Amino acid sequence: MTTFEIFKYAIDLLAVLLLALGIKGLSKVRSAREANRLAAIAMALAVVGVLVESFGNGGISTNACLWIILGSSVGGLLGMFTAQRVPMTAMPETVALFNGCGGMSSLLVALGVALFSGNSDSGVLIDGIVEIVSIVVSVFVGAITFSGSIVAMAKLQGWLSTPSWTQSKVRHAVNIAFGVLSLVAAIELFRRGEQGLWLLVIASALLGVGVTLPIGGADMPVVISLLNSYSGVAAAAAGFVVGSQILIVAGAMVGAAGLILTQVMCNGMNRSLVSVLFGGSISAGIASESSGTEYKNITSCSVEECALTMEAAERVVIVPGYGLAVAQAQHTLREVTRVLEAGGIDVTYAIHPVAGRMPGHMNVLLAEADVPYEQLKEMDVINPEFPATDVALILGANDVVNPQAKNDSTSPLYGMPVLDVQEARSVFVVKRGMSAGYSGIKNDLFELSNTSMVFGDAKKVLGDLLVELKELGVGKKR
Ligand code: NDP
Repeated sequence: MTTFEIFKYAIDLLAVLLLALGIKGLSKVRSAREANRLAAIAMALAVVGVLVESFGNGGISTNACLWIILGSSVGGLLGMFTAQRVPMTAMPETVALFNGCGGMSSLLVALGVALFSGNSDSGVLIDGIVEIVSIVVSVFVGAITFSGSIVAMAKLQGWLSTPSWTQSKVRHAVNIAFGVLSLVAAIELFRRGEQGLWLLVIASALLGVGVTLPIGGADMPVVISLLNSYSGVAAAAAGFVVGSQILIVAGAMVGAAGLILTQVMCNGMNRSLVSVLFGGSISAGIASESSGTEYKNITSCSVEECALTMEAAERVVIVPGYGLAVAQAQHTLREVTRVLEAGGIDVTYAIHPVAGRMPGHMNVLLAEADVPYEQLKEMDVINPEFPATDVALILGANDVVNPQAKNDSTSPLYGMPVLDVQEARSVFVVKRGMSAGYSGIKNDLFELSNTSMVFGDAKKVLGDLLVELKELGVGKKR
């Protein structure tokens, strides 16, 4: 073994260790930022490892090395620029786009090896069963990930809605046809080379669109985490294609982590992966005809009334939702809860697994405002505590507190676990108007007798609430 090879293996080992530590650190909000940095360093080291090895054995030309450096720098800078500028509320679209980029990279690596390396008359320049199978898997999963992620991004961005035909059984026939076509293309790739390769790219990309298009509404978190897992699988396959151990290990880690997240999201939604993928969406983001969005008997109240009820409360549960992120009201919320706590009022935060627009969205949002992690309670823990709660303060949440999910078997949300806020003595819902949440359906909570709507932007309402609480002397009296 040459010195260059030993050096390269050492770099790879360090990169794998850092990546593993990074993925582990991402499981806790407190360590997530550091973990992200570790993972980024790991990936940069992996590129360095490739360059060191190439210089050592003369495997690739200086020109190619320059291209690698240029590509990594431009890609890295673009990623950094996008991540810094993207608003928190657009994170899911960004994550979907990044997953798509991962899938596309693996696809391009496999295509590059198939078309431009080695010597052959068939047009496709590959030999050996492992290499050809790796190329088929890399192209197949990479293309599905790419096209599926672009569709998911367009849906989250509101550029694409769920076509009604995709909710019928026709879509199964269409997807089976694309699946069979992909299989035929893979066989053709073995037999005839280039034609099969391009057919495989097209059929797999269409399958990605066909599988993702019908999924919408409350099922989107599951799709995003699944596509994340696919991008890892595609990268691992690309690792086999180019013989890169670090790519195989890193891809496998991302694939496994994404799969675990998918399982967590499925549990949160009380849905099996099979029913998400093949059973139609919980809701396609369109108000269902039967549910209607007309409200009767809505009680609204002023911020002052809300403050008076809170002043008398002993226990308050805050329920953050997507609207809190839109309003960027987490810091004002923290000030409000500091005043309540100083007044001897017990404050906790109820975290629904799919609140917001990405897994862990509310945890990250509240961590930004230094909300103590111990005060965040998951749905299973907090639900039995609502009957002993004086005030449930709902901030820009809608679907995750919709009792229809439990009470109405005709509701598109039926079966999704929700926060039982209606069990609290008083419920205040802060939102700008009567618009529906992501799933597009009516929320029966708003018509209940113990619910009062406090209309306004969450940041403005919380700012006013802070003033009212201070005027009432909360935080000074007890
Ligand atoms: P919802 O999307 O159900 O509701 C958000 C509510 O916030 C809206 O009704 C809106 O009403 C209100 N709102 C918006 N802006 C403001 C503002 N500035 N101030 C106050 N209120 C505001 O959010 P939830 O968090 O309850 O539920 C999340 C939904 O998103 C679920 O259906 C989930 O499945 C889905 N989803 C989740 C993902 C995840 O990974 N977490 C990914 C993709 C989708 P109004 O306009 O009247 O103010």
